[in-house]
Amino acid sequence: MSNSIAIDGPAGAGKSTIAKMVSKRLGFIYVDTGAMYRAMALYLLRENTDKNDAAAISDKCQNADITIKHENGEQVVYLNGENVNGLIRTEEVGNMASASSVNGDVRKKLVELQQKLAAETDVVMDGRDIGTVVLPDSKCKVYLTASSMVRAKRRYKELIAKGQECDLEKIEQDIIERDNRDMTREISPLKKADDAVEVDSSNMTIEEVAETIIELYNKSI
Ligand code: C5P
Repeated sequence: MSNSIAIDGPAGAGKSTIAKMVSKRLGFIYVDTGAMYRAMALYLLRENTDKNDAAAISDKCQNADITIKHENGEQVVYLNGENVNGLIRTEEVGNMASASSVNGDVRKKLVELQQKLAAETDVVMDGRDIGTVVLPDSKCKVYLTASSMVRAKRRYKELIAKGQECDLEKIEQDIIERDNRDMTREISPLKKADDAVEVDSSNMTIEEVAETIIELYNKSI
């Protein structure tokens, strides 16, 4: 059986940065499940889907073929054969991903793909429902969190570095709204699995968080 590290937590807690670092050090494959929900959201936006129209989302998501490949050590997300890595990291796509990921048909399709990836190889997988739904048997589960202001500042810096215009207060508001939606949705809400260890990264460096997780993994095997 393959090994896994399951990392869940709210938007901007540093999951992807940490998961990338930990996977490199352990020689595992990093699977960013948020990128899959984002690729699906991009498809739905292109199809002019109303984010409140559940029937249309259930119907249209069937036409989105999402695949993950690893090229030169990086995860590449393909949407119907197109590399969409450069198109999914916007606030618009993130907000649509949060809205459309409440849909059971969207989740079913992407969870199956995630479980298949984890069965084939050792993975560090991050998302919202990895420890609770996707990999419930994982021996190493982490719930990574940080205060909403710290998370908003991190996202703000990321967007500014990419040359995107943004407003810190609006980002914090979006983060709080997204947390709320992710934590209160009916299907697979974001919550700490009973056997997950909570790590609050508000006052920790990236290095400290990565070391903490590798220690937890080493203890778990
Ligand atoms: O992590 P990221 O911000 O890229 O995820 C975008 C959105 O996708 C989240 O706000 C969440 O609603 C959804 N998501 C999810 N389950 C996952 C990963 C992401 O519902 N495993």
